[in-house]
Amino acid sequence: MLTFYSEHQQAHAPLRELNNGEWMDFAESPARLGSILAALPAPSPPRDHGLEPILAVHAGDYVRFLRGAHDEWLAQGREDDAIGYAFPVRGRRPLKHNRIDARLGQYGFDAASPISAGTWTSAYWAAQSALSAMGAVIAGEARCAFALCRPPGHHCGRDYFGGYCYLNNAVIAARAALDAGRGPVAILDVDYHHGNGTQDIFYEDGSVLFASIHADPKSDYPYFWGHADETGEGEGAGTTFNQPLPRGTTWPAYSAALDKALERIARFGARTLIVSYGADTFESDPISEFKLTTPDMHRIGAAIHSLDLPTVTVMEGGYRIDALGRNVEAYLAGLETG
Ligand SMILES: [Zn+2]
Repeated sequence: MLTFYSEHQQAHAPLRELNNGEWMDFAESPARLGSILAALPAPSPPRDHGLEPILAVHAGDYVRFLRGAHDEWLAQGREDDAIGYAFPVRGRRPLKHNRIDARLGQYGFDAASPISAGTWTSAYWAAQSALSAMGAVIAGEARCAFALCRPPGHHCGRDYFGGYCYLNNAVIAARAALDAGRGPVAILDVDYHHGNGTQDIFYEDGSVLFASIHADPKSDYPYFWGHADETGEGEGAGTTFNQPLPRGTTWPAYSAALDKALERIARFGARTLIVSYGADTFESDPISEFKLTTPDMHRIGAAIHSLDLPTVTVMEGGYRIDALGRNVEAYLAGLETG
């Protein structure tokens, strides 16, 4: 499998996050990359596509904030990672703030996503990896390609970060496919958590189908998105397809949901597929509660292979580091050979 990855994606290294009311070591650590790289053939470095394809998805003021947030933090005399603690309730009027704490709240939606000195660099190169994987598929160099993105992207919206995500790699790749005339595009999100940012960006856009299988947001992050009755609006009506599943889900129920999602993608007439792949559906993931096995990861890939579509996979979550490489390898093997 043609794989794209930049060493710059190691630079993002927050120390800790707030989880269930306690400080814990940052789960989305650079060590995740080492586990995956050890299991795969050597990756290719991404081409630098510049800022333009990022700004085709994300708001300019948000990108400026992200690039400068850690410097603003240091300028306030702070140390370590920039992290917000006050988040505006929806419906507050838009205000122009100077204080970094207000700005972290303005653009963030949780306290699990610190901004470290290397965050922008890593997010930028993760997006370039996604663009390079899509570029290779568009150019016909490969039927399938893998963007080993880190940080992940699917929780990040047009102008907000959260859930360890700062730039939405799947959406940036989807926009590139649409701009190259490769639409309609389907995004299949098989991370344990709902891809709220991806859903938000395409919620009123009928040119992209977003199909997600994830933990029920009644019990799991991100809580405020991912419910089955969210189906898209306006021109996007009917092109969001959420399948929340209960904690403890094993392969039979997961497989049935996956079949429904694939059937929906085929019916949509997608010509390009993007998979937001998270290995945090794994049975012993430390922050998730599905019970899929490593052979199930192969089955997910094989089922997607049956669609026979040009496919770019972007890496999302997966936090059981000692099993992460073999889970990704199993998924990609299934995707490649069926
Ligand atoms: Zn996840």
